[in-house]
Amino acid sequence: MVTVKPPITEDKPVSVIMEDTEEDLETLRHSTAHIMAQAVTHLYPNVKLGIGPCIENGFYYDFDLDQTLSHEDLKKIESEMKHIIGSNEPFVRAEIPKDEALKKMEVLGQPYKVELIKDIDDEKVSFYTQGDFMDLCRGPHIQRTGKVKAFKLLSVAGAYWRGKETNPMLQRIYGTAFTQKDALENYLKLLEEAKKRDHRKLGKDLDLFSFQEECGAGLVLWHPKAGRIRTIIEDFWRKEHYKRGYEVVYTPHIAKLDLWKTSGHWNFYRESMFSPLDIEGQEYLLKPMNCPFAILMYKSQLRSYRDLPFRWAELGTVYRYERTGVLHGLLRVRGFTQDDAHIFCTPDQFESEVISVIDLAQFMLTSFGFKEYEIELSVRGKGEKEKYIGGDATWELAEGALQQALERKHLSYTLGEGEAKFYGPAIDIKVKDALGRGWQGPTIQVDFNLPERFDANFIGSDGKEHRVVMIHRTVLGAMERFLGCLIEHYTGSFPLWLAPLQIRVIPVTDNHAEYALGVKQRLENDGLRVDCNTINAKIGYKVREGIIEKIPYILIVGDKEVKEGTVSVRSRKKGDEGSYSLEHFLERIKQEIAAKE
Ligand SMILES: [Zn+2]
Ligand SMILES: [Zn+2]
Repeated sequence: MVTVKPPITEDKPVSVIMEDTEEDLETLRHSTAHIMAQAVTHLYPNVKLGIGPCIENGFYYDFDLDQTLSHEDLKKIESEMKHIIGSNEPFVRAEIPKDEALKKMEVLGQPYKVELIKDIDDEKVSFYTQGDFMDLCRGPHIQRTGKVKAFKLLSVAGAYWRGKETNPMLQRIYGTAFTQKDALENYLKLLEEAKKRDHRKLGKDLDLFSFQEECGAGLVLWHPKAGRIRTIIEDFWRKEHYKRGYEVVYTPHIAKLDLWKTSGHWNFYRESMFSPLDIEGQEYLLKPMNCPFAILMYKSQLRSYRDLPFRWAELGTVYRYERTGVLHGLLRVRGFTQDDAHIFCTPDQFESEVISVIDLAQFMLTSFGFKEYEIELSVRGKGEKEKYIGGDATWELAEGALQQALERKHLSYTLGEGEAKFYGPAIDIKVKDALGRGWQGPTIQVDFNLPERFDANFIGSDGKEHRVVMIHRTVLGAMERFLGCLIEHYTGSFPLWLAPLQIRVIPVTDNHAEYALGVKQRLENDGLRVDCNTINAKIGYKVREGIIEKIPYILIVGDKEVKEGTVSVRSRKKGDEGSYSLEHFLERIKQEIAAKE
């Protein structure tokens, strides 16, 4: 990846986020994986070794062992690693002929390494040795084991060899390493915090959603509170789209197999699609994407350049086959609703359409409390033009326009050479949450493929047919993943405008119930989401319950409030705030809602 700094032409801050130590950190972490493998072979001499790559924030190594590793075993491995690090052994690289390497690994009883070597296309393979341990590896590595200053083994989990369910299940130990002790400590604190924010846990605690065995893996049940949040998001989303010249469309969940053949999905995307359904002898497929329907709508009439652009938005529910092993809460599911849109325009309109999408994306992200993001522009790889559909001129035009749009907006971005899909370049935005973790955000994808396959055109001012430009874009991504992201970003304490329940009124005794219900009614009349807890329980208990449910405002009413016509306010942010007249309270929270704080 190449970092591109846009010209600074205004006094807006331009931040390019690239850690220059990223490569060093990867080398350090991967070297720590080797050290871990060495420690494991010391403790369990019969271990068969899998692979040990570096991953985001750490590393892992896969082991085939007779016994199941426990947390205690990880501690033993850690202390053996400390010995190895203390001995400060050098990492030594050696290249040996492939057949020699094969023999060596066969003698050592390492079947997985044998398999890996067989797959290598070179005459020679490289090994790295530190002390008494040798491992097949391309490198690079740190110079000596003593360079590892801070590491930690985090967890152990089962993983199929090479991710295939028909292969043996190995034990994968995850760990991380840093160049500084306090960096490790900060990271461990972050992990603790992330655990507290885990949307799967909070989703259950706050009764937001569930997955159920009887229903099937990866299929989300949105409970009423999450349903509220989704309704608020969707209403806001629709309003903002209409404001920006979009129209909202709806399309079916299934379509004839032939449509997916024309679109190319059946050939290129089949592994992610569910098997066909038989309907009166015709094969139909559940949709993995909404795009072909948009194209069919486009083609339902002859289109003139005067009609363009069309901006058709759709909250489209799609179904994709994901292996059970990769499903993860709301983040990896089998059915989800995309906040999709398809824009059809002329080549001349393309750049300004992209700018409008970026504007909308920025507006939406800010509205939901995401202030920081990273942008990647995915373009063709150099010298591999045959991998892509569409001619040079078209690609250059589209890549140039995307780049131009980013520069006009003074946005910094990284250039992902060779990262483009075969059918067109794209802009991908990764948002950062409250813990600084990246989440997949808006994407803007140009498509040369579908207009070609469906022969989608418009009549130009010259009276001739021209190929239409098609843009796919999502702003929030999938509603499911976006909810997961919001839950973790806010630790379930949704801002007032999104909170499923905004206010709870609690009467001190039964005598104050009538007044409490009156307060509830008054607030509801103003469109607020309110309930009233009149059950017979101690006031302290009822307040605590409200706090656990993370309700933004709790209003307590007793003798004093009834007499004075006020409410006693307890906010999630500040705790007790004393008494307010109802009008004053209403004014305040209306401001808070409008500000989307
Ligand atoms: Zn290595
Ligand atoms: Zn699409």
